[in-house]
Amino acid sequence: MIERLLNSEKFIPDYHIDSVFDLDVEALRKKGIKMLIIDIDNTLIPYDEFSANERLITWFETLKTLGFFIVFVSNNHFRRIQFFAKPLNISFVSSAKKPLKKGFKKALRYFENPIAKEEVLVIGDQLMTDVYGAKRTGLNVALVKPLKQKSEKWYTKFNRGLEQKMLQKIKENHAKSYRELKLEDRVIK
Ligand SMILES: [Mg+2]
Repeated sequence: MIERLLNSEKFIPDYHIDSVFDLDVEALRKKGIKMLIIDIDNTLIPYDEFSANERLITWFETLKTLGFFIVFVSNNHFRRIQFFAKPLNISFVSSAKKPLKKGFKKALRYFENPIAKEEVLVIGDQLMTDVYGAKRTGLNVALVKPLKQKSEKWYTKFNRGLEQKMLQKIKENHAKSYRELKLEDRVIK
């Protein structure tokens, strides 16, 4: 139904990795990436956790040291996102309504100067919100595997159902990308 109306090209990520820790941040910096727009739920922490663990805290410190500007963009509500982001001293956009462009655009405005879209990387765990939203906004995107799907809310489960159909469509229409990005790994059997 819905997935048939959508252009599958806009759902193909630029990278597909197991976890945020697998990102080659040095390589990204060399490629000219200056800003990271990162999803929170199931990308950084599961829905049933609230704060960053030591490994994440260290990772953010490394990113900041390397000069990356970070903004969290999440569809979750202000209180949850603020609770997570504040101790890390990282800016955020909550209730972002991804895949709409507005949350991403707001995040781009947090950068001190106008930033080129090629200098930004979005990181998230969902095809229907993170990848589609980033691509609609013209941004590069890295898709990560969701940390813990059991605790997801009904609307995320709904999106996961759509994601499975979209994966099939990508397989049919963009077989090379599907293979190279190992999107097969996301198919629930
Ligand atoms: Mg997420």
